[in-house]
Amino acid sequence: MPKPDILIAGAGIIGCALALRLAEEKLPVLVLDRGQSGEEASWAAAGMLAPTSEHAQAPAETELAAASAALYPSWIEKLEGRIKEPLGYRSEGTLVVAFSAEEAAPLAALPGEALAPEEAQQREPALSPRLVAARYLPGDRQVDNRRLLQALLVAAVGAGVEFRAGAPAAEWWIESGQMRGVRTVAGEKLEAGAVVNALGCWAGTVPPLGRRYAPVRPVRGQMLALTAPGDFLRHVVRSPRGYLVPRASGRLLVGSTMEDAGYDKSVTPAGLRGLLRAAVEIAPGAGALPFVEAWAGLRPDTPDHLPILGATDIKNYFVATGHFRNGILLAPLTAELMADAILGRQPRLALEPFSPLRFAETT
Ligand SMILES: Cc1cc2nc3c(=O)[nH]c(=O)nc-3n(C[C@H](O)[C@H](O)[C@H](O)COP(=O)(O)OP(=O)(O)OC[C@H]3O[C@@H](n4cnc5c(N)ncnc54)[C@H](O)[C@@H]3O)c2cc1C
Repeated sequence: MPKPDILIAGAGIIGCALALRLAEEKLPVLVLDRGQSGEEASWAAAGMLAPTSEHAQAPAETELAAASAALYPSWIEKLEGRIKEPLGYRSEGTLVVAFSAEEAAPLAALPGEALAPEEAQQREPALSPRLVAARYLPGDRQVDNRRLLQALLVAAVGAGVEFRAGAPAAEWWIESGQMRGVRTVAGEKLEAGAVVNALGCWAGTVPPLGRRYAPVRPVRGQMLALTAPGDFLRHVVRSPRGYLVPRASGRLLVGSTMEDAGYDKSVTPAGLRGLLRAAVEIAPGAGALPFVEAWAGLRPDTPDHLPILGATDIKNYFVATGHFRNGILLAPLTAELMADAILGRQPRLALEPFSPLRFAETT
């Protein structure tokens, strides 16, 4: 292959979304992944697009989240057009539920509509009669993230992106303060005009830079799936201890743990017990539904829990990672912002709060 203009390390949703966006700009793009494309956090996720319920604590990310949510309808329409299949983009919204007065108090700070318990149960008869308050967040959406990844891959390949699976980046290739490319584990030197680190929670593992621009740590999330009748739930439902995400396919996702377990993706009895308890607390009938599967993924978290986006002080080296609990939501906007940064255009949102340089002095 001739030298690609852009080499992206990491074929999760962030790497794939950016690859497609850059290919649409007619740039030659090569995406490397140490495994198969899209089989890590982006595959493990629940696909909630929650610009409101996830963001009460982080104003900088609130703006990012709202802007990315606004891009979703046209992004989905474009991708569904490429693969001629629905991607499970649903707009019923989220119900946040509380089981005590203490849990109910923070609900008032959320946007949306307060619901009395009986109103919530009218909307979702499967909800527990024990809930004491609920809030309806009509702006939240969901997408089937596994189908979305497939669609992104098909669209990116169709747009000319080359993917290399089973090709771990072993070392960043830097010469005279300038990023030249990547050396693979096989010893091959891949040269590119610009290099993007989209390695998710592994972004800080590649020498010689290590964590310098990407002090990312993995936060394990265990999930499980049940089979539910189509009318069991229509909304995503969240409680302080977990959430239920109904897919149109009949899968009911139950999530998720937040664990500091290093790079260990094990599913544990304690994790599953907590998920099942949360599910049955929200909707007692969930206890009788058939179990399908359980899995775990690793969220890329950062010291301030904000993503890391943009250029570094190494020429031609860019970082796009650290999306923590919201990488599915933030993917379309990340692709736009990173494409602008790489092409030297003014990004539509200020990238300063997310700059990779905010950590460089302290790591
Ligand atoms: C249980 C769970 C539930 C979640 N739910 C939601 C949700 O509802 N909504 C939401 O918006 N977000 C959710 N998230 C968060 C979201 O999944 C992540 O923020 C997002 O997937 C991160 O995408 P990524 O492309 O950065 O990372 P990843 O998808 O992890 O991709 C990184 C890629 O880099 C590759 N890689 C690693 N090392 C190397 C190397 N040396 N060389 C080459 N390739 C390498 C990996 O193989 C992988 O394919 C959830 C996450 C989890 C775990």
